[in-house]
Parts: sequence; C-alpha cells; structure tokens
Amino acid sequence: MKTTKKKVLVAVAFGLILASCSTDELKKPSEHSLELDKRQVQGRSSTLENTISDGIVGNLNWTISGKKVHDFSHDLNKAVIPSECDNTPFRAVTSYYNNALINGFISNWDGNPDAISVILDDYFVINQIAALDDYKNADTFGANGEYTNYVKNNVRSLEKFWNMPNLITVRGQHTSSLQDLDFIRFIYENYSSASPADVDYFLSIAEHFNTASDQIPENPFYASDGFATFDGFIVIGDGIVSMLSETGLDPKVIWSSILAHEWGHQIQFKNYNIWNYPVPAFNGTPESTRMTELEADFLTGYYLTHKLGGTYNWKRVEDVLSAFYNIGDCGFTSPGHHGTPNQRIEAARQGYLYAANQQKKGHISAPQVVHDAFISRLPAIVGL
Ligand SMILES: [Zn+2]
Repeated sequence: MKTTKKKVLVAVAFGLILASCSTDELKKPSEHSLELDKRQVQGRSSTLENTISDGIVGNLNWTISGKKVHDFSHDLNKAVIPSECDNTPFRAVTSYYNNALINGFISNWDGNPDAISVILDDYFVINQIAALDDYKNADTFGANGEYTNYVKNNVRSLEKFWNMPNLITVRGQHTSSLQDLDFIRFIYENYSSASPADVDYFLSIAEHFNTASDQIPENPFYASDGFATFDGFIVIGDGIVSMLSETGLDPKVIWSSILAHEWGHQIQFKNYNIWNYPVPAFNGTPESTRMTELEADFLTGYYLTHKLGGTYNWKRVEDVLSAFYNIGDCGFTSPGHHGTPNQRIEAARQGYLYAANQQKKGHISAPQVVHDAFISRLPAIVGL
C-alpha cells in the first residue's frame, strides 16, 4: 500500500508534462520527458533543502507562553536532510511519511519560496493554535473522535490516581483542521501582522496545495504534536498515535502512554517550587531536560502498571515505550536531551518495579514520595 502511494506521488509530478499528450502518448511517455521532469523535481528538492538549511521564517506571531515541554514535533531540517537512522519499525513509518510530505510538496511546487513558509511552517503553527486555543474539535481524540471516550476515561483515572481533579485540560489535534480554508484565514487575520492582500495571497497558496496534494494537509505529521504547558494544558495529535500504531502497537496503549508521560510533566509543573532536584528543573540545559524527562518516564511506568492506575502489564507498556524512545534523530527531539533509549526504558521500568512493590497493599504513594523514589534511583538510571 505504501509503495502504491509513492507511485501516485511520482505520477502527479509527471502529470504536468503528460497532460498535453494524446492518449497513445500517455500510455508510452518518452524517456526524455520523464528525465526532464525528474531533473526539475530534483532541482526543486535541492532548492527546498537549501532554503530549509537557512531556516524557514513563518508568517505567524505565536509561541506557547511560559514553561513547556514539547516531546513530539516535526523537524523539517531532519525530514529533508537524510539522517542515519536505525531501521526500527517506527523510524520506517516516520521516514515514509516525512518523504511523502516532502514529495507531496515538491511535486506540486512551482519554486515560490513563500509556499515553503505557508505549507511547511505556518501549517504546523496553525494546527498547534487549533488544538491549544481550542478552535477545531480539540475536545475529541482520533481523526473521527474514535478515542474520545477512551482518552476522557484515562484523564479521569489520572486525576484520581494523582489526586489532581479538574486541574489539567487535554486537547486533541487533527489534520482535518487544516482543510478549513476559512479557519486558516481566521488564524492569519488574528495571529499575524499580514495585510489583507497578503492574507489573500497566503490563502491562494493554501488552496492550491490542499487541492493538488493528497498529503497536504492529510499527512499525519500535521497532527503530530505532543506537549505539556505550564498552565495546565496537554496536546496530543492523532498523527503521532496513528504513526506509532502503524508499527503494530495497540493504539489504546499508545494514547495511555503519551498521556501518562505528559501528565508526568504536569505533576512536575505543579510541584515546580516544591520539589528538589540535583540540577534545577526546566532550565533548558541537556542535563536538566534529561532529568525531567526520565522522571516523567518513571511516573509513566509507575502509573501505567499500577493496579489502581493504568493496570497494564509491563510488557505491553515496555513495547510502546521502546518504540517511541527509539525515535532518535528521525524528526523528533534530540535523544541527548531526553536521555538514551536505555535510560528511558530503565526509568520507566524502575517506576513499574516501584509500583509492583507497593500495590500488593493497595497503596498509591503521594507524588512527593514517588518523586523522592525517582531521585534516589536517578544516578543508577543515568549510569546506564
Ligand atoms: Zn517529556
């Protein structure tokens, strides 16, 4: 199925030249015209790569305010420039969709640099706003809302387990939000300083790509955010879950795992002025980020396998966590900041062992006690 899709994308690129041929010629495209078009596409590809290397400048004035943790996001630098990734199933899926998105863009692109800003930068920001500012079905989960009840039940379970009622808002993100051109116009009008003429111009670019490409905005990377904000929001996109589930993992365990990890960051935020750490939390250094990420993993292992929490057995949790801890440099945040895959799995496993030790007594530790348990295990986890 994936191979077929790729062929369709190539066919779209060739279609421009073949459109004026007769039916007979269409059946037998000359080698010459195919080669010519390949060169054009390759030329645009290298133009895109150079532009992205210099940094894309988007048109929207928007950043998530305050402290935040962004665990998943699409990084076009890494999407366009080939990286040396291990051949894990999840990397194969993400690299397939990376290439599909870039090919979908290039094959419908006339070389106009403004299209890069709109389609490969603004679109990601627009969909972040759509989720975080609650414009587009942000209270539903899954492309068709099929995981809405499941996620809401998980939220209630996390609230109860960690004694955090009504403190955290979880929002979904969907590629379909970007199909709504009126919504895109609304975002440019309210979140940028573009003139009315410029907004019309951006919309003409959006309309062209939305119509011409089957990847824009359908590609799952447009809904691949996973982050937690200091003021109590968690955003999880359908795309990150669907890409992980394409490796054969159970989507419900994926939703639960990402949610438990982001919730772990919310517990850290809530205790920001209370908890002591060996290095300051959330100060932006790699050591600090690794520490808070490993703690979120520990909290995830603890909650997900606890008999009064997620109730999953460790093996199922380990399979899912292993898949996204092995993301490496294939389009996501650097592993140097989040901890190595071994450290991350060990942090979660220690959380699981800690839960296994106590749950016989039907006991849930207070967050402070779980935090202390993590800190005492941190040197051993990092030493791996
Ligand atoms: Zn995290």
